[in-house]
Amino acid sequence: MTNRRSFLKKSALVMAASSVPFPHYLYAHQKPKLGVALVGLGYYSKDLLAPALQLTKHCELKGIVTGTPEKIPVWKSKYGIPDRNIYNYDNMHQIANNEDIDVVYIVLPNTMHKKYTIIAAEAGKHVWCEKPMATSVKDCEEMIASCMKNKVNLTIGYRMQHEPVTNKIIEMASSKPFGKINTLTAEAGFFNRGGDGTHWKLHKELGGGAMFDMGVYPLNAVRYATGLEPISVSARMENSRPELIKVDETTFFDLDFPGGIKARCKTSFAENLNHLKIDCAKGWYELQPFQSYSGVTGKTSEGTIFKAFAGNQQARQMDDDALAIMNNTQVIVPGAEGLKDIRVVEAIFESIQKKGMTIQI
Ligand code: NAD
Repeated sequence: MTNRRSFLKKSALVMAASSVPFPHYLYAHQKPKLGVALVGLGYYSKDLLAPALQLTKHCELKGIVTGTPEKIPVWKSKYGIPDRNIYNYDNMHQIANNEDIDVVYIVLPNTMHKKYTIIAAEAGKHVWCEKPMATSVKDCEEMIASCMKNKVNLTIGYRMQHEPVTNKIIEMASSKPFGKINTLTAEAGFFNRGGDGTHWKLHKELGGGAMFDMGVYPLNAVRYATGLEPISVSARMENSRPELIKVDETTFFDLDFPGGIKARCKTSFAENLNHLKIDCAKGWYELQPFQSYSGVTGKTSEGTIFKAFAGNQQARQMDDDALAIMNNTQVIVPGAEGLKDIRVVEAIFESIQKKGMTIQI
């Protein structure tokens, strides 16, 4: 600790003398593990991220931000989180003074991502933000600008881009083992029972709807499977239970990519869907499932099997992102990547509004 303090003091003096802003990664890379604070202790934090943070090598669960005081004793006893590292939404900015916390992970309803990303960035902490990055291009741009201004890292929780079997598909976008890619099919959905209708995923103002929740998986997949950006989209929406599902239930969106590549995508709250297929000039390959927490597997037209990754996806994602901060290297999924999807989502919604008209992106 003495060494670290004296290093920081020395570095700070050098930085101050040269009028160069003090980079936060200098703090972070002195630690064997980065301290992570989870913001929002719902399903994904409780069931996936906190358990994964017990498996990570380069980061660890150090703090929580919650608006529900009843959750605090459970998290304290399960994960040994000290009182000094427990915040609520009103005092979260005080995290700025907490050296235990290097990274703030935003795991809140989608329209809340921007506000809490900016609070974390202004507190000088690196930000990991769940997908979808936000619900508008404007919000994404403000998040990126704030993280840039505060010289912190921003990465989006697209766990598939860290997943080893998915990485093979990403690599095949450039190696093209079956020649030119012609068409892609990508579908992600689940049967959302709707319950009593109060969950935020069923409310537009909190960023609900199948498109933001599940639709970003096929959208992100056809982008990473081609390594290209779509140039236009045409979309339509269906709702089989309008009295219960007051957000978008099922959306079909067809994307055109450069070179005549076409992607047919679907997302739904009305059925279970989990398939990515890439048809090429000389064969095909696919993943099924392609976005589950485990068991992502695939095959090719030649009979090659892609065996499932045995590790923990979220632990791998967070370790990749922690190492990028520690080594000051490019993160795998920066804010700019989250923004690209939301730009397409806005075009999808515009096409639906204009009765399927093709929208240039
Ligand atoms: P959830 O409803 O289970 O949890 C949301 C949390 O936000 C709860 O703790 C809730 O108390 C809190 N919250 C604070 N203000 C709220 C408000 N005004 N209304 C509702 N809740 C409020 O949701 P979740 O499934 O954990 O999703 C959280 C985020 O994580 C979303 O952005 C979602 O897309 C993302 N997610 C990602 C994955 C993935 O695989 N990467 C999986 C699930 C969820």
